[in-house]
Amino acid sequence: MKELKIQPIKNGTVIDHIPSGMALKVLRIIGIDEKGVDSTVSVAMHVPSKGTGWKDIVKVEDRELDPKEVDKISLISPSATINIIRNYEVAEKHKVQLPKVIKGIVKCANPSCITNLNEPVETMFTIKSKSPLKLRCHYCDRELEDVVEHII
Ligand SMILES: [Zn+2]
Repeated sequence: MKELKIQPIKNGTVIDHIPSGMALKVLRIIGIDEKGVDSTVSVAMHVPSKGTGWKDIVKVEDRELDPKEVDKISLISPSATINIIRNYEVAEKHKVQLPKVIKGIVKCANPSCITNLNEPVETMFTIKSKSPLKLRCHYCDRELEDVVEHII
C-alpha cells in the first residue's frame, strides 16, 4: 500500500495509473454523478508516477467494479490498474485489458444504425486501432474515433 499516495481503505477498489486528467471520466463510468451512490469515493489527481510522469488515482470504498465498468475504464485508460482491497490488503491486482469485442458499453455514432433504432440489439464493436483508439461497428461498419464521448 505504500505506493498509493492516498489513505488506505479497508475494503473496496483502487483504480491506479489512470492517465492524468482522466479521473473525472472514470468517476462518470462508475456512476458517481448519479444518485444512490452510498460509498465514499476519493480522487487524487496529478500524482507523480514512476516512469510515466503523472497519473490520477480513484479510490472507491466498499465496492468492487463489475466487468462492464472495468471494460469501460479500459477504453479511456488502457494503462489503468485495478486493485481490489480486502481488509486493508491488496487482494487482487490486475491491469485492465481492452476486450477484443466491445459489447453494450459504447454507442454507435451512426443515427441509422440498427443499434440506434429502438431495436433490442446490443451495440457491438471490434477494435480497428488501439492507439489512437478506433472502433468499428459490427452492424453498420461505421468507424468510431471519439470513443470516450460515446461510452454509454
Ligand atoms: Zn453502427
